Amino acid sequence: MGLSKLSGLYREVILDAADHPHHKRALTSATHTITLKNPTCGDVINLSVQLDDADLIQDIGFTGEGCTISQASASMMTDAVLGKSKEDALTMAKTFSDMAIGKEHSQADMDELQDAAILSNVMQFPARIKCATLSWWALQRALLAEHGGNEEESEV
Ligand code: ZN
Repeated sequence: MGLSKLSGLYREVILDAADHPHHKRALTSATHTITLKNPTCGDVINLSVQLDDADLIQDIGFTGEGCTISQASASMMTDAVLGKSKEDALTMAKTFSDMAIGKEHSQADMDELQDAAILSNVMQFPARIKCATLSWWALQRALLAEHGGNEEESEV
C-alpha cells in the first residue's frame, strides 16, 4: 500500500500494533464467535468475545491473517472494547464504521476509540477501508447475532 504515505507517527503506531498485536488468541470460553473475510485484500479474522452475565466484554481475542492495517485494527479494536458493555462496544463500532464512510464524529466519540481513532488516517486510501473496518464489523455482527450466535464464515 501507501502506508508510506501516512505520516511517520501514525505509521509507527500502526506498524507496532501489527507487529505486536494485543489479544491475538482464541478464547476457550467465548460466548460469541464469528469469522469474517475481506476478499479484496485476503484478510481473515476469527473473533471470539466473552460476555458476562451483565453483558460486559469480559474477554476478547482474535486469530487470523491479513495485512498490516487489518491486524493493527483488530489489535486496537480489542484494546478499545475490552471491559466495555455490549451497548458501548456497539456504539464504538458504529462510530468506526461511520468514520470509514467519511462521517464526522465528535471528539468525545473519537476519544472512546483510543488508538483505533488513528486509523481514520487510513480512510484517505479507499482500497484499505475494508481492511481497517473488518474487525469492527466482525465485532458488530458477533454481538448482534441471535442467541449469542456462532456465525459461520462470511465475506464483507
Ligand atoms: Zn487488508
